[in-house]
Parts: sequence; C-alpha cells; structure tokens
Amino acid sequence: MRQSGKLEYGGRRGPQRTCVGCRVRTAKSELLRLVLDGDHVVPDLRGRLPGRGASLHPALSCLELAERRRAFLRAFRVPGPLDVSPVRAHLEENPMSCRTPS
Ligand SMILES: [Zn+2]
Repeated sequence: MRQSGKLEYGGRRGPQRTCVGCRVRTAKSELLRLVLDGDHVVPDLRGRLPGRGASLHPALSCLELAERRRAFLRAFRVPGPLDVSPVRAHLEENPMSCRTPS
C-alpha cells in the first residue's frame, strides 16, 4: 500500500501533547497534567484546575528529565525555582497510574 503523505499515529485519534520530560508526543489521555500552585508543581488529577498546564508521562524518569532540563520553568513561564515534590510523591504512590477509571 502507498502512503498518501498523511501521518498516522498508530491509528490513535484525539488530542496529543508533548511530555515536558522526554519530549515525546503522546495522546493527552496518557499524560499527567501538571499545574502550578504557587511555586509548587502539582498533578491535576481531574484535569480541571485552571491555568497553564504542563504534560508529563506518569513516570519518575520523565519527571527527573524535566527537572534537569528546567522544562517546568519554560512550560509555566516562571523564573523559578519550583518545587516538584507533590508530583514526585504522587508518582511514587501511583506508579504509571495513567488510566485511573473514573
Ligand atoms: Zn515522558
């Protein structure tokens, strides 16, 4: 079969976001949305908190990558420093909890 120039992402549809850690584009539903609460980065578990968000794979390795690259400062457009310990705590308690039934 011939490709018609249109990219397919494994047949998946729907919105995509880029993980601020590893920079891989992934379906929004697979990523954890993070928002800023003061100078704390917190997981937006219901996807309803207002404000600028950042998307991250629910993985500690991606969190560490994002910290190392100061990706949160860019994502939230703040000078920092930011405290990501709420996100870390969430990931340690809920490893790969990207598909919580609601
Ligand atoms: Zn990632």
